[in-house]
Amino acid sequence: MKLIDSHCHLYPEYYGEELDQVVENAVNNDIEFMINIGTDEETSKVALGVAQSHESVFTTIGLYPEFCNDDEVDLSFIEELIKNDTNHKIVAIGEIGLDYHGEGVNKENQKKHFIEQINLANELKLPVCIHSRNADMDMLEILKNNKIDCGFVMHCFSSSLEIAKEIIKLGGFISLAGPITFKNAKGLIDVAKFVPLDKIFVETDAPYMCPEPLRGKRNEPANVRFTAQKIADFKEMSLEKFAEQVTKNTMDFYKIK
Ligand SMILES: [Zn+2]
Repeated sequence: MKLIDSHCHLYPEYYGEELDQVVENAVNNDIEFMINIGTDEETSKVALGVAQSHESVFTTIGLYPEFCNDDEVDLSFIEELIKNDTNHKIVAIGEIGLDYHGEGVNKENQKKHFIEQINLANELKLPVCIHSRNADMDMLEILKNNKIDCGFVMHCFSSSLEIAKEIIKLGGFISLAGPITFKNAKGLIDVAKFVPLDKIFVETDAPYMCPEPLRGKRNEPANVRFTAQKIADFKEMSLEKFAEQVTKNTMDFYKIK
């Protein structure tokens, strides 16, 4: 059996000297690939560096919504990193999107820089990994009005079944993380049951969002199997069959051979 952790943050900042061991532990637990996600210039560089030194790690680069509240932002690092990505480890633009939670939110600027990065992804012929929090209606409007040529995935999906239906209608993928294993996952269970098997990804969002039975601990890609098992249960199928399909979805989306 093989699985892919479609979204994690493997930075030395979180794992220190254990980083190599965390990757090895994932591989030993049938996690064939991990997608290491950047959130700004610094972490995009770090994530790419980790990918370059591990065969099983690929990366995305982009500017996270929390860093898009200013009028002007510098996105030049995206093309700069791609130019130097000689062994093709960058597989998407992300995580980018909208996050209206917390202080200092400037919705107009977030929307503007999100769309700028969608256009950049289209120019670069890359898919997009999307973060969306407390922003369902604006997110849907942007996705309806700005076609993402190479596809998109809603990472750590936490919206309602109605929103999931809209995302599927728009051709998007839905990635589920640890919260699907939590006791209060009620709405997410409906989402997991609804999302067509060829439209679903699994992820850890490590080091955050640790699934049951390890909830509260530092998360790592090896734990994606708990999330996958839970979804397979809801879909009333074997973990093996589910893993096979979800791995194919993810590899096709990120064009990993
Ligand atoms: Zn993330």
